[in-house]
Amino acid sequence: MAEETIFSKIIRKEIPADILYQDELVTAFKDISPRAPHHILIIPNHQIATSNDVTEADEPALGRLFTVAAKLAKELGIDEDGYRLIMNCNRHGGQEVYHIHMHLLGGKPLGPMLS
Ligand code: 5GP
Repeated sequence: MAEETIFSKIIRKEIPADILYQDELVTAFKDISPRAPHHILIIPNHQIATSNDVTEADEPALGRLFTVAAKLAKELGIDEDGYRLIMNCNRHGGQEVYHIHMHLLGGKPLGPMLS
């Protein structure tokens, strides 16, 4: 079991975060250092360190990340114009927090990501 990160404390509400959604499987909250007008992190409530550690047992929570992303995008009014979903893995992927998370970024044109 990987060492707990700050995200577990956010899920348990032991440290403050702007939580937009929480249920029995996932939690969504605003990124502390937003890279777009809307920058939300959506995470499973149980810790999975990286996408390398995903198992079939994680599928319900990981599927929920997408349904919550779609719900929040609609609520924020960015579903029609569009947005970007990102998951980083390990050093070369730029992962800083070792509790798997989906970034939801939107609210402006984000430009091409791959060039
Ligand atoms: P990564 O680079 O691991 O994909 O992204 C980690 C994200 O977590 C970063 O965008 C960073 O700004 C965000 N983050 C790190 N610590 C905190 C925190 O304590 N609270 C919140 N809300 N976001 C955090």
